[in-house]
Amino acid sequence: MNEFKNFINGEFVTTSSGKTFENRNPVDNSLIGMVHEAGKPEVDAAVQAAKAAMKGPWGKMTQAQRIEMLNRVADRINERFDEFLDAECKDTGKPRKVASHIDIPRGAANFKAFSETLANHPTEAFKLDTPDGKGALNYGHRKPKGVIAVISPWNLPLLLMTFKVGPALACGNAVVVKPSEETPATATLLGEVMNECGVPPGVYNVVHGFGGNSAGAFLTANTDVDAITFTGETSTGETIMRAASVGLRNISMELGGKNPGIVFADCDMDKAIEGTMRSAFVNCGQVCLGTERVYVERPIFEAFVQRLKEGVENLKLGRPEDPEVDFGPLVSQEHKEKVLSYYNLAVEEGATVVVGGGIPDMGAELNAGAWVEPTIWTGLSDDARVVNEEIFGPCCHIRPFDTEEEVIELANDTQYGLAATIWTENSSRAVRVAEAMDVGLAWVNSWFLRDLRTAFGGAKESGIGREGGVHGLEFYTETKNVCIKL
Ligand code: NAD
Repeated sequence: MNEFKNFINGEFVTTSSGKTFENRNPVDNSLIGMVHEAGKPEVDAAVQAAKAAMKGPWGKMTQAQRIEMLNRVADRINERFDEFLDAECKDTGKPRKVASHIDIPRGAANFKAFSETLANHPTEAFKLDTPDGKGALNYGHRKPKGVIAVISPWNLPLLLMTFKVGPALACGNAVVVKPSEETPATATLLGEVMNECGVPPGVYNVVHGFGGNSAGAFLTANTDVDAITFTGETSTGETIMRAASVGLRNISMELGGKNPGIVFADCDMDKAIEGTMRSAFVNCGQVCLGTERVYVERPIFEAFVQRLKEGVENLKLGRPEDPEVDFGPLVSQEHKEKVLSYYNLAVEEGATVVVGGGIPDMGAELNAGAWVEPTIWTGLSDDARVVNEEIFGPCCHIRPFDTEEEVIELANDTQYGLAATIWTENSSRAVRVAEAMDVGLAWVNSWFLRDLRTAFGGAKESGIGREGGVHGLEFYTETKNVCIKL
């Protein structure tokens, strides 16, 4: 039986309360192991370990030494690639084909890319004239913020966690990570890697547990945490903002979305179909940037719906190990219930089910897993709940449109503002529409194409702040102005 322990001050520890919870594989609902749930004493110990690490060898290291160490961490993840892959696929059920291409390599790369950004990004300097004619010199100095709480979701566990831990550590902070209760494995495994690479105790800590009245809430309530970076649902973000207001602590929020895909009649249809297949169905639709609302210009509407339907019918569902499989289960039974409730609601709201809409028959071995069918709807009204609420499943609604103005209005008519995808071969239109989108990320003729040097984050209720590239430096450091009178 696997055990997932907390990682505090360089050691794997159980909990004083002895509380554990189950970690199950969503492919067949089999038990992977037991997770030790951190109580307040463990969370507080992790925060104190992080605080102490800032005063120990870690706090005294040069930037170059830190960067070298983090490069070793990236290399070591790649050396233990198969273990990370196995752990991630068991926790999430996602196909190895997906995780070996996205989750693990990008998770490792996060430790290298931000180090490079930090090493190559200057701060500002100004010479000030003074009445005595001698002047003063100002320069910006970046100091680490201190202890950063990293609270992450289950959909891309390693990747989204290291997207925060990488820059936080590169900037010289110490972290306490609270991974999702659904996916404790890779964050735990990373503890071993940190020790193997000589990262001092207390720099990287992991506490397991749930949100409210558990590890998540204990962590955000601890005022020795200097800043909180969170990825997850918008409503959880609101709760965490309230906690962070005590002691006026900084936050970075990457939250939910209901992202539009806009397909113009002048698009390259093959690219648009291939891109929408990925943006709506990869990772069983559990990607924050995924497309759940597709708007297609009327002349190609029928053809687009037909071709996307054929794409869905060709998806191969099955076990993660099967190299042919491109579609796995949802992350948990609980999430399956949520997604299925939207499948039923879509029918109640008058949708035409183009394909899917139910539970696939996966055979006796897998039927206990969290499987749902990839699903396409048409015919819903713009105010239907299915068109407005984030489902976070393998499904999309497709609606025709007639003009550019109309589709801009429709795409922006949401409280969310994370991502938009635009398919057109007309570059003037592409720029015009991309700039009109009220989102943090707009893709033209692509999706999920990420350059780690660029800003990442959401507008409206999809987030606060930007991470990625130099933008992360703003959050993970405190910029101080040093003024020297000459
Ligand atoms: P969630 O909000 O339920 O949980 C996220 C994390 O927060 C988990 O670790 C959870 O235990 C913790 N948490 C829950 N309540 C808490 C509380 N009161 N205090 C402290 N911590 C608490 O989200 P989820 O279901 O794990 O993930 C799916 C959601 O994440 C979707 O809404 C998706 O859009 C969003 N997401 C956003 C991005 C982005 O970059 N914008 C990326 C991935 C996922």
